[in-house]
Amino acid sequence: MYHFLVINNDTIKIMKFKYCPICGGKLVEKYSWDEGGVPYCEKDDKMFFDVAKPCIVVAVIKNDEVLLLKQSYIYKDSKVLISGYISNGESAEETVAREVLEETGIEINDIRYLGSESIESKELIMLTFVANYHNGEIKKSSEVEELGWVKIESALDEMKEDIIGRNVIKKLLSMRK
Ligand SMILES: [Zn+2]
Repeated sequence: MYHFLVINNDTIKIMKFKYCPICGGKLVEKYSWDEGGVPYCEKDDKMFFDVAKPCIVVAVIKNDEVLLLKQSYIYKDSKVLISGYISNGESAEETVAREVLEETGIEINDIRYLGSESIESKELIMLTFVANYHNGEIKKSSEVEELGWVKIESALDEMKEDIIGRNVIKKLLSMRK
């Protein structure tokens, strides 16, 4: 088991954080049973783990259509599923409902978890969901160029750059067969 490994060069990670974000002091390496060497501030008695930021991605479904949006500053030539960061104190399901309401004006129900994917380069862990349209009309915010329903069967053609979103659609398509 991992807990009983002898420390060697492989288990000591390169320290990612060098200075304490609270006091600005230099961090030292402290051994943690679970994680190996972890950057540590002696003054604040805090460890700074190399953790990923959790996000949600959700496919909102209405009959045989899925809600896609386009924001060119994120993806130039691609529509995407609705996504967002999980706020502190919020469950992932609460984030899903909040982001859909904020970005589209729509209320959803029957939120189901589909699995997670990590993007190491962006330090993200994406929790993917599918949910059903419940109530409301689409209200496009000024940040969004396009927002609307697209047939699930043809959604992949419009989502060339949204890799995680594409995987969600592929899962939905395979579940419908
Ligand atoms: Zn500190």
